[in-house]
Amino acid sequence: MNDFHKGSLEVVCGPMFSGKSEELIRRMKRVQISGKKFIIFKPALDNRYDANHVVSHDQRKLEAVITRTDTLAIKYIEDVVDKENPEVIAIDEGNFYAMEIVFMIEKWVSEGKRVLVAGLDTNFRGETFGPMGELLARADYVDKLKAICMKCKNREAVMTQRLINGLPAKRSDPTILVGGFDSYEARCRECHELLD
Ligand SMILES: [Zn+2]
Repeated sequence: MNDFHKGSLEVVCGPMFSGKSEELIRRMKRVQISGKKFIIFKPALDNRYDANHVVSHDQRKLEAVITRTDTLAIKYIEDVVDKENPEVIAIDEGNFYAMEIVFMIEKWVSEGKRVLVAGLDTNFRGETFGPMGELLARADYVDKLKAICMKCKNREAVMTQRLINGLPAKRSDPTILVGGFDSYEARCRECHELLD
C-alpha cells in the first residue's frame, strides 16, 4: 500500500462579503498554532486597508507575501515556495491569478503540501472568475460561503453586484476596474442586476 498522501487542495469561495478572507485567516491561525511552516500569498491589486497583510473586514491579520498576478508572478511564487518549502500554502483572492497557478497548485499537492485558496467563484457578471472554476473542480474540499443580500436584506447572497457611480455595471464593463468609482455588494439572484 502506498504511503498516506497528505497533499490536499481546499477552496473557499463565494461572493464579496461572504467571509472568505476571515475563513482563510481562521484556518491559517490554526496552522500557525500547530507550528507548521506556512506562506500566504495575496495579489497586490487589492489595496484594501493594508498592503502588507491579509486583512479581513474584522481586522484579524496574518503576514502575507504580496505578488503580482500574471504568468511571470506565478514563476516568482514557485521560486518562493521552492526556497521556503512550507508545508501549507494559502492564496487569498485566488480569482485574480493567471491560470498557470492551477498547475503550480497541482504540483504542490502532489508533493504532499496542503494548499488553501480563497476567492470569488464568479465575477460581477456571474461568470467563472479566473482559475477558480478549475480549482473548484480539482479541490479535495470545497466551501461555498454565502453573504446576506445587501438589497433585500433577506435572502442568501451568492452573487457579487458591481456598482459604478451607484448604478449597476454593464455586461461590457471590464472585470477589474483600477481606480474607478466602483463599489460592490453581495446580492441574491433576484436582486442581482446587470445592464446590457
Ligand atoms: Zn436580495
